Amino acid sequence: MSEKHSPVLLVHGGAWAIPDEMAEPHVNGVRHAVAAGWKVLERGGSSVDAVEAAIVVMEDDETFDAGRGSFLPSDGRVQLDALMMDGASLRAGGVGCVERIRNPIRAARLVLDESPHVYLVAEGAERFAHQHGLPLCANEELVIEREVERLRQVQEQALVGKPPEFFAEHDTVGAVALDRGGNLAAATSTGGTLNKTPGRVGDSSLIGCGCYADNESAAVSTTGWGEPIMKLVLAKWAADRVLEGVVPKAAAEMAIDRLETRLAGHGGIILLDARGRYGLAHNTPRMAWALKSVHVETAGIECPSV
Ligand code: ASP
Repeated sequence: MSEKHSPVLLVHGGAWAIPDEMAEPHVNGVRHAVAAGWKVLERGGSSVDAVEAAIVVMEDDETFDAGRGSFLPSDGRVQLDALMMDGASLRAGGVGCVERIRNPIRAARLVLDESPHVYLVAEGAERFAHQHGLPLCANEELVIEREVERLRQVQEQALVGKPPEFFAEHDTVGAVALDRGGNLAAATSTGGTLNKTPGRVGDSSLIGCGCYADNESAAVSTTGWGEPIMKLVLAKWAADRVLEGVVPKAAAEMAIDRLETRLAGHGGIILLDARGRYGLAHNTPRMAWALKSVHVETAGIECPSV
């Protein structure tokens, strides 16, 4: 890898009305994720390795809706989706509806590296991951009491006709990175939306919707209410604006504006181009994020004014 670029790593840990008492765990979680990914970039590792390392930390952190501790579908069994994309080759690997994988982003990475396909779902994805060395776990190991209670409450409310909160929790995790070789990568991992129908796949693991990377445009990860995001193919839409010459900050803002005005959607986006320019935007009250470059190290739960 030639060493002409200054690395950058940007992560998010979901966009919603993060309450004050949950602000600290969110900020700590995204900071830890950036630290893990940065270690990879610092020693000259690839952007693909860096986003994987960052996402694994957040999947292992029960604060987020990814890996263990994810929101539960209506049947109470964790179902996870993840996607990773390499901006140099446009290779992508995605898994959907996996129930026995602690770190679905590792399975997505295996699909990217070892499979001629872009997507594997459910048992086929689990079998593939296992055959390529990833341990499987029991679904119960991914379920935590907090989420059992959360599901119980939302189902009870649904029975009496109460609509879900408008800014319902969207704790999906994502990362975008630029490595020293000038290559971009993006990754997104999620447990999806609370009380979803088993088998539902959200935007997060759909190429161009929740995640996209192309060295010629940008690396992008989104979070939020998945159905509007996928209808707009939002990550690709934002990357295309960068390709047209829009600066990443403006492209991120335009994407969230489009989500809101076109489909009354809500969520957040992070975006990074191959020159190391980045953008973040959300129309939810808060979004957890962290950024590291050679010059900057910062994190927060509201968009920075950069
Ligand atoms: N976008 C995710 C989904 O709809 C949820 C999230 O971002 O938290 O599955």
